[in-house]
Amino acid sequence: MSEEPNKIQLAVIGGGPGGYAAAFLAADLGMQVALIDPEVNPGGVCLYRGCIPSKALLHVAKVLTETREATHWGIEFSPPKVTVEKLRAWKEGVVQRLTGGLGQLSKQRHVRYLRGEASFVDAKSLKIKTPDGREEQLGFGHAIVATGSRPAALPGVSLASPRILDSTTALEIQDIPKTMLVVGGGYIGLELGTVYATLGTQVSVVEMMPGLLPGVDRDLLTPLTKRLEGLFRSIMLNTKVVEMQEQKDGIRVKFDSSAQEQAFEKVLVAVGRKPNSQVPGLEKTKVELDQRGFIQVDLQRRAAEPSIYAIGDVAGEPMLAHKASHEGRVAVEAIAGHKVAFEPRAIPAVVFTDPEIAWCGLTEEQAKQEKRTVKVVRFPWAASGRALTLDRPDGVTKLILDPETECVLGVGITGSGAGELIAEGVLAVEMAASAMDVALSIHPHPTLSETVMEAAEVFFGNATDLYRPRK
Ligand code: FAD
Ligand code: NAD
Repeated sequence: MSEEPNKIQLAVIGGGPGGYAAAFLAADLGMQVALIDPEVNPGGVCLYRGCIPSKALLHVAKVLTETREATHWGIEFSPPKVTVEKLRAWKEGVVQRLTGGLGQLSKQRHVRYLRGEASFVDAKSLKIKTPDGREEQLGFGHAIVATGSRPAALPGVSLASPRILDSTTALEIQDIPKTMLVVGGGYIGLELGTVYATLGTQVSVVEMMPGLLPGVDRDLLTPLTKRLEGLFRSIMLNTKVVEMQEQKDGIRVKFDSSAQEQAFEKVLVAVGRKPNSQVPGLEKTKVELDQRGFIQVDLQRRAAEPSIYAIGDVAGEPMLAHKASHEGRVAVEAIAGHKVAFEPRAIPAVVFTDPEIAWCGLTEEQAKQEKRTVKVVRFPWAASGRALTLDRPDGVTKLILDPETECVLGVGITGSGAGELIAEGVLAVEMAASAMDVALSIHPHPTLSETVMEAAEVFFGNATDLYRPRK
């Protein structure tokens, strides 16, 4: 391939977890790579205004909750004093450290990091507008579109006001409002609702569906709902916002379920995300979008234009960082000519609430919809020694098994640290482990991981810590 400065083997547009994983692997495989993003360093939504800042704040919320609950163990702390500026600075420090590290990794790998916004000139070249207004043209052999997604607006009731937050502005923690309405009881609404409620805001959640986290198995949700009912001021289900009006001291909100209006100091809108597929000039190529605006790709993540690939949030659900990175690596391997496809059996999902909910592979809901016969076994955490030592028996581990082969098709876990535990489930599903494989693998004691082994033992009717004879 040419050494011309304005031509590159691979151009990756977007420096999020999809884009930087792709660029780094391509460099490791010996390709000349350019990575283009408007920020000073790679990181994307995940590092700058998504996964990382939200998890830093959720860690703080966890510590606050534990100090409050310590009274139960005979330990009393005085009420915490929260210095918002310091909290914000610490969270930003975490982001700077990680994104700075990615900048270093780009340099070490000789990835050409171009700060700016890319647009397509045609299916073989890009124009990059730099922050100082210059324009640079770059030819490419292949391009990977990894432009991510942005928050969706509330249809019909949008209002431009500093009191209306999206996930980006909510993560800035400008202040700790007295009251907040969270519109959308999904991932962001519940995670950021938890942060604000723990910091002292009276949080109300409004969700248009009959339950929180639609699509998640209901038994996994029960322990979380119980706790959120104590943490949040109210949870309004089957309800939509029909009107919002700015007033001197807040936002007055009208709901479709009641004639009564309510006022909130801040409103956080978290009703889903939209793919950033409107990359200028993309329409000059053969790339096609589906009805929801996602770039259509094949198993190698190749779009309808053979020189262009798409990965991450812009290429479809689930909009998760680890799915983006994995797709990025698949696309690069395909470009390198390796035999590869994106066909995972299990993409784990974790909602980092308290307790956490995590699942992978087939869910019970999905099995019901597909009319698939499965065997579901559960191990309640009230029977786990480790859960009791943590004073957190409010959890459950379940396995979804094929009744004939006894293979693990899916795993669901609710409880403290479920997000860490689900990795074993991913391995079990990907490796087609059987219930016997899981039951016979010695798990360390006392740990929450034993609940996975004991759930498998429940299948055979011989779980040590639970009397559930096999029927
Ligand atoms: P993104 O991370 O969205 O990055 C895309 C990049 O492309 C951006 O930097 C953007 O500026 C850039 N870009 C766009 N257009 C152009 C252009 N024309 N030229 C150049 N650059 C361009 N996922 C998890 O797995 N775990 C979590 O805990 C989690 N928490 C989240 C919390 C919040 C509050 C939010 C909002 C999201 C969270 N997500 C989480 C989702 C996760 O952030 C996304 O799935 C992930 O960032 C998608 O990665 P990506 O590489 O597709 O794109
Ligand atoms: P979401 O899809 O998780 O939840 C949106 C919720 O809003 C849904 O429950 C939906 O029914 C509800 N809703 C939609 N319109 C509504 C309306 N008009 N009134 C009331 N409720 C309404 O979306 P999100 O929370 O915005 O997050 C976006 C995506 O970002 C997630 O789907 C996920 O892919 C990703 N994310 C992941 C994590 C994580 O992995 N822990 C954390 C945050 C975000």
